[in-house]
Amino acid sequence: MKKILLLATGGTIASRPTPRGALAPAIDAAELLRFVPELREVCAVEARQLFNLDSTDVGPAQWLAAARAIREAYGAFDGFVITHGTDTMAYTAAALSYLVQDTAKPIVLTGSQRSVYVRDTDARTNLLCAFRYAAADGAWGVQIVFDGKVILGTRARKVRSKSYNAFQSIDWPESAVFRDGTLIPFLPAPARAGPVRFYDRLEARVFVLRLLPGMTARALELLRPHYRALVLEGFGVGGLPGGAGGALLAAVDAWLRDGRLVVFSTQVQHEGSDLSVYEVGRIARELPGVLEARDMTPEAVVTKLMWALGQCGDAVGAARLFQTPVQFDLLV
Ligand code: ASP
Repeated sequence: MKKILLLATGGTIASRPTPRGALAPAIDAAELLRFVPELREVCAVEARQLFNLDSTDVGPAQWLAAARAIREAYGAFDGFVITHGTDTMAYTAAALSYLVQDTAKPIVLTGSQRSVYVRDTDARTNLLCAFRYAAADGAWGVQIVFDGKVILGTRARKVRSKSYNAFQSIDWPESAVFRDGTLIPFLPAPARAGPVRFYDRLEARVFVLRLLPGMTARALELLRPHYRALVLEGFGVGGLPGGAGGALLAAVDAWLRDGRLVVFSTQVQHEGSDLSVYEVGRIARELPGVLEARDMTPEAVVTKLMWALGQCGDAVGAARLFQTPVQFDLLV
C-alpha cells in the first residue's frame, strides 16, 4: 500500500463558523481525516498540520514552508496531498510547480467549496479523489484535484467563486478525470530531465497592474522603486496606449533601464498575448528586455517571476529562467 503524507493548511474545507457567523479554519488534519474513513482502503496516510489559514493569508512564506515540508518528507512517502483554501490554490499550485521541479512523486492540492462537516459538502469527494490520484500508479507532477478533474498546477485557475465546478485547466487538457468513480488518465507523465529539484528562494517584490482605458503613467512611476518586476495586464493580444512618444512607453523603458523586469500579459482568460500582432504591441516589444507572458496563466506568471528572481539576482538571468518552459506552463 502506498504511503501518502497529508499537509493540511486550512481553507473552507477545514472551516467552521466563528461566533459572528463567518467561516474561518478550525478543523485540524487529524479531524479532517476522520471524515473520510474509506481512505484506509486507498493508502496509508500520515498527517501534518502545516498551518491553518484562510488561503487569503497564504503567500510566498507559506509556499516555501510547503516546499520545505515536502523536501524533508520526500524520501519517506510515495506522494503528497495538500488541503488548501480554494481562493489562492492556483497560486500555491503554480508556486510549488517552480519550487519542486521534476518530481516523480505526485503533489496534489485539493479543497472544497463547502466545509467538510456540511451535509452536502464537496470536501469528502475531493479528498478521496485527491488521495486516490496521489496513490495511483503513473500519477505525476504538481496537480489540483477538484470536482473530478486533475489539473496541472501551472495551468489551473479558479473560474467560479461558488459552484463545485470551481477549477479549470486553461488551454490545456486535464491530466486525468474521475468518471463514475474510475480514474481515467489523459496525459501520461512526461520524461523527466533528471532527479527532483527543490528551490528555497522567492522574490516577493512582484506587482501586477491591470491597464485601464485612459490610464496615465503615474502608477508605473510610483511603483518602480518598490518592485523588482512588473506584470502589465493589457487588452487582447497586447499593446501599450499612447504610442511611440507616449508617457507609458517611457515609464516602461525606465523600469527596464533600472534593471527591473517588465512582462506584458493579457486580461483575456484564454490563448494568451502576442505583442507582434499590432503596432501598439510592436512599440512595446521593441524595448530591449521586454518579456511576454504568452499563454502562461496569471498565477504562473507571478510565481515564476518570484522564483526566477529568487534564483538570479540579475535581470538577464532571471529573464532567461522566466522564458524557459517548466511543467507545460509555456506552450506557444
Ligand atoms: N476563503 C476560502 C479560502 O480560500 C475559500 C475556500 O477555501 O473555498 O481559504
